[in-house]
Amino acid sequence: MNFHVLTLFPEMIEAGMHTSITGRAMDKGLLSLHTVNIRDYAEEKRKGRVDDYPYGGGAGMVMQAEPVWRAIMAVRQERPKARVLYMDPQGKVFNQEMARELAAEEDLIFLCGHYEGIDERVLEEAVTDHVSIGDYVLTGGELPAMVMMDTISRLVPGVLSNEDSAVSESFEESLLEYPQYTRPEEWHGKKVPQILLSGHHANVDIWRRQQSLKRTLERRPDLLETAQLTAKDRRFLEEIKESEDSDDPEEL
Ligand code: SAM
Repeated sequence: MNFHVLTLFPEMIEAGMHTSITGRAMDKGLLSLHTVNIRDYAEEKRKGRVDDYPYGGGAGMVMQAEPVWRAIMAVRQERPKARVLYMDPQGKVFNQEMARELAAEEDLIFLCGHYEGIDERVLEEAVTDHVSIGDYVLTGGELPAMVMMDTISRLVPGVLSNEDSAVSESFEESLLEYPQYTRPEEWHGKKVPQILLSGHHANVDIWRRQQSLKRTLERRPDLLETAQLTAKDRRFLEEIKESEDSDDPEEL
């Protein structure tokens, strides 16, 4: 997987991505990172400045079309098929399914805006996907690009040392993950569930599946609408709902 990031702050991306798991994956050659400073494509007379006042007035500055266009084209010349993802609070909201789809690409170009955003004309001409990381506004697209690259990286084969850990995690199969425990066996008077100490793998699997279903029902019931559930799963969920109903105090 080759990430290309067009930004006004390449040092922020380099520092974040060269840390921990993604940094190790780059050392192993499983990922590559190519940051492009959009200022390098500023018109010569503007000496590295790429923002200007918005037509029609109003607060803030807008990134100009031409430097952004040239920066995109510099990468696209080498990677003509690469998708151009604009980090955009108005875009489709990023999720695990989108991450899986993007992890199958060879090259991805992330375009990070700043200030009030980027001149609409270059977005119309060069962007293939508008992607948001949630319904809130950040100062720039660098953190959204890093959130996306981190999520996608974990799905690239070999990046995680234990491939299983990506398979059972939250949002795979539209379910949240079961609770995790590590040593000591007792902490603040709370004991690790006995079943996890039993060494009986089949029973541990059943317990984890049930915890996963219970958690999803309690915390994100919306996910269950798209989850692949077996008849056994459905029965288990029904039992929880029934026991909750019977716990409800009778209406007066
Ligand atoms: N004026 C824009 C608007 O109201 O839609 C917001 C501009 S924002 C202050 C500056 C840049 O941060 C954007 O161009 C975008 O690249 C990035 N950004 C901010 N919030 C984001 C989010 N939720 N998801 C993805 N990118 C975001």
